[in-house]
Amino acid sequence: MRRVVILGSTGSIGTQALNVIRRHPERFEVAGIAAGSSHELLVGQVREFMPPVVAVSDPDAVDELRAGLEGLREVEILTGPDAPEEMARDLDADLVLNAMVGRVGLEPTLAALQTGKTVALANKESLVVGGELVMDLVKGEPERLVPVDSEHSALAQCLRGERREDLRRVLITASGGPFRGWSREELEKASVKEALAHPTWKMGPKITIDSATLMNKGLEVIEAHYLFALEYSRIDVVVHPESIVHSLAEFADGSTMAQLSNPDMRLPIQLALGFPDRLPSGIEPLDLPSLGRLTFEELDREAFPAVDLCYQAGRAGLTYPAVLNAANEVAVMAFLEDKIPLTGITDVVSNVLDEHDPAGVVSIVYLDRADTWARQRAAELIEQ
Ligand code: MG
Repeated sequence: MRRVVILGSTGSIGTQALNVIRRHPERFEVAGIAAGSSHELLVGQVREFMPPVVAVSDPDAVDELRAGLEGLREVEILTGPDAPEEMARDLDADLVLNAMVGRVGLEPTLAALQTGKTVALANKESLVVGGELVMDLVKGEPERLVPVDSEHSALAQCLRGERREDLRRVLITASGGPFRGWSREELEKASVKEALAHPTWKMGPKITIDSATLMNKGLEVIEAHYLFALEYSRIDVVVHPESIVHSLAEFADGSTMAQLSNPDMRLPIQLALGFPDRLPSGIEPLDLPSLGRLTFEELDREAFPAVDLCYQAGRAGLTYPAVLNAANEVAVMAFLEDKIPLTGITDVVSNVLDEHDPAGVVSIVYLDRADTWARQRAAELIEQ
């Protein structure tokens, strides 16, 4: 029985993870769940999975949660912004699925790894912002960090059993998002509603906007750099609108391995939860004749500068990736609030990166300093 903690249980990944667990009660036990604020969904999850501990970050939501859980046997309720980290550190569990959104996911990832747990990582910002700190904690035991992102799950599968010295490069696939084929001028007029309508994946608002700007793909490049210890020159992006091929690994002999499936996040989630086993998933296998064809195209780097911004920040290292992420988080919120156009997101990120005075990442304090500065600077640029 694997004891699992789910951080971000009411989001898209969290609810799908609980679907997987519901399907395999003989394998998983829920040791704790955490969500940002309380609502019916969280109460329903606690009532169904009966975790001994539940965390809600918003202190104002505790009374509501307590009322919703009335009549249940004792459930410990944690609250406050540090509750997920506390849970990741203190609970007796084997695995922490981190499906939180944004930079706030870093501390829980570090806490879980520091206390010997395995982390199933959907929070890519943990690696983008704190890649060095995170990878330091899994040195010599890479199996303690399992990717949930579909592209990295695909790469991990392509690399299973292969010798690392035979790997030439990896290719991360991108659907291209809702604006594939749009020009920079057209993108300037893209509405929030259009940006939130992703063609192949249903996700939360932050990652959906990141997918519309392709910032998500750039963040995944940085994630792959840390996860697979690859230089940036050995990570490429290819656009693949059907989202059937989830990524590819190219080897020294000219052979390329790919992982294919219908786009359904339950697959990488359950591979991460049950790793290394493959469990029955209920996901339809591919029907190749009905798919007919799969297409691939070059990334339009001019219309979507976010990917190259990520390569730049990743290569520059130090606090640059943390700054890129912080500026992006602020700019995405501003776009969702209609304060800037879609193209303004990468403009803000690019300007903040240009102005940044970097530092080495000796500890999380340096990351926080850079993060705070970048958020302030991004907010000022947006006001102008
Ligand atoms: Mg992905």
